[in-house]
Amino acid sequence: MDMGTRKGVFIYSPELEEYQYPPEHPFNTIRAKKVRETAAAMGLLSGSSSEVAPVPAERIVLKKFHSARYLHALKTVSKGKLEAEAFSMGLGTPDCPVFEGMYDGAALAAGGTLVGAKLILSGSADVAFNPSGGFHHAGPERASGFCYINDVALACMILAEEGKRVLYLDVDVHHGDGVACAFYGRSDVMTISFHEDPRMLFPGTGFEDEIGTGEGKGYCVNVPLPLGTYDEAYMKAFKTIALPLIEAYNPDVIVFELGADALADDPLAHLRLTNNTYADIIDHLLSFDRPILMTGGGGYNIDNTVRAWALAWSFLCGEGSRQEGLRDKTLAVSEPQRDAVALRIESTIEVVKARVFPIHGL
Ligand SMILES: [Zn+2]
Repeated sequence: MDMGTRKGVFIYSPELEEYQYPPEHPFNTIRAKKVRETAAAMGLLSGSSSEVAPVPAERIVLKKFHSARYLHALKTVSKGKLEAEAFSMGLGTPDCPVFEGMYDGAALAAGGTLVGAKLILSGSADVAFNPSGGFHHAGPERASGFCYINDVALACMILAEEGKRVLYLDVDVHHGDGVACAFYGRSDVMTISFHEDPRMLFPGTGFEDEIGTGEGKGYCVNVPLPLGTYDEAYMKAFKTIALPLIEAYNPDVIVFELGADALADDPLAHLRLTNNTYADIIDHLLSFDRPILMTGGGGYNIDNTVRAWALAWSFLCGEGSRQEGLRDKTLAVSEPQRDAVALRIESTIEVVKARVFPIHGL
């Protein structure tokens, strides 16, 4: 898999736009359409890259992660019938509202991520990006945090079923709780989540001491970050924690949830990254020379999210150096802020290293 021959697959179809959250909801499906437009304009959907349409995930596949009871409720509410049982599973809340066609929309978006996984398994793709995926909060029997069907957990499951060692990396500003939980007792899927301090932000989990259990002990890694975390401090944590662990784990495939809500000016969170961090992370991931399945996720400043995902796709395709115009300007950090964040991150790094590294002989 060298730079010149990397086969990329961008997963999108206008059919995805038929399913919209209510207009007052922060999750906007227009992001995928706009990223697709930008990627097309940059010439990044042709040549060694191509565009593939998602296929709705079948119920039998969804049942690998979600319960039959939940899938039934999801289908029922999407026809307009809200029952008490559905509400007890998180459906019909402000975060996870009920809207027409939501089952089909969620199954199609999830199907996009699974198409990416299949193309990677068959060797038809080296890198794939589903900007309509990344619903990392959904639980087996629970809608949560704008997420109904956990496409990323399903993708990890399907890859692991084929005997792959899977590295799941989640840089969404919120803890990737649904995925971490799914593999908490397993060592064939390592989950690493970088996110804002759970004391400050939904879903309130993802502390340093959540490291997995039994067989999975040491294979769940959480890196909570203080408010105001900036590029340099973030990359320090990434390089010090994620890189050695990925190297030691030696995955066959990487699933990368690139929620863009850790960017500065995201209306729902409080970190201060620029998209340069995402480009750097992708360069590091590519250096492992393994297939990468990338998804979207959060990202509530639409313009910033679209630019970040377009830049990320260009780096994934090996064309990043030609797309400098998509980069954010570096952000100034005040001296006290710089020191306060650095100090907190330093102590988090030490805690994670002490708890997790010895398990991997580091
Ligand atoms: Zn998020």
